[in-house]
Amino acid sequence: MITRFAPAPTGFLHLGHVVNASHVWEAARARDGKVLLRIEDHDRQRCRPEYEAALLEDLAWLGFEADGPLVRQSERDAIYRKALQPLIDRELVYGCTCTRSDIVAAAGDVGPELRYPNTCRDKNIPLTDDVGWRLRIEPGIERFFDEIRGPQQQDPSEQCGDLLVRDRLGNWTYQLAATVDDHAQKITDVIRGVDLLPSTGRQIRLARLLGRHTPPRFAHHALVMKSATEKLSKSDGDTGVRDLRAAGWSAEAVLARARAMPAAGDH
Ligand code: GLU
Ligand code: ZN
Repeated sequence: MITRFAPAPTGFLHLGHVVNASHVWEAARARDGKVLLRIEDHDRQRCRPEYEAALLEDLAWLGFEADGPLVRQSERDAIYRKALQPLIDRELVYGCTCTRSDIVAAAGDVGPELRYPNTCRDKNIPLTDDVGWRLRIEPGIERFFDEIRGPQQQDPSEQCGDLLVRDRLGNWTYQLAATVDDHAQKITDVIRGVDLLPSTGRQIRLARLLGRHTPPRFAHHALVMKSATEKLSKSDGDTGVRDLRAAGWSAEAVLARARAMPAAGDH
């Protein structure tokens, strides 16, 4: 069993991360597995090295220790390129010049998430560094079993349309980077918050296109609330691990607080 903790260094470690880390490390311990630590710094505009340093320090302070070398997505450009090349060769990837507002305007009736209406699919826009890169997603249902929520089914072509794998600024997207890395790192168990449940079908589809025919197991745990009525926000001073540390909390007390937090009722 190999699982992972995969924070994006776009801010400081907060109690939501601590809850996820607790699920990940507990599952690994219970099954004699390994936890890999992956820094998801694929978005060069939003990630900062000082956040990474702070995340690593706070994790160590809490006692979450990885069982292998740290992987940093910003250092894996060549790996993502190589993984995608067979799909480029099969002409499944095309350039897209749409901005977010173009997509909003073209999408019309917006469902639970903004679906790209495949506007540029047949425009033959070359794959240059200043356009988005999209993978053709054909209609079809992905079925999987969530270890917490039971059987699931999702049709990525209806949820998100053709999948953005690289953005217009030249960043590999979360979907591409995480899927390639889960495959490359031989992750057997993906354990994460339910906010990422809608990504799972497309990651299974993408993994299959990239040559991974047996997807990992997935478990999507509930998100926690600050209180019964207040959502946890990354900007809340009293839910940041740094701030709690500065206020004199012990690591044990922070872990206990994270474990005692109420789960969001709607999932
Ligand atoms: N980097 C993602 C996040 O911080 C988590 C990715 C995942 O667990 O798949 O939300
Ligand atoms: Zn487009």
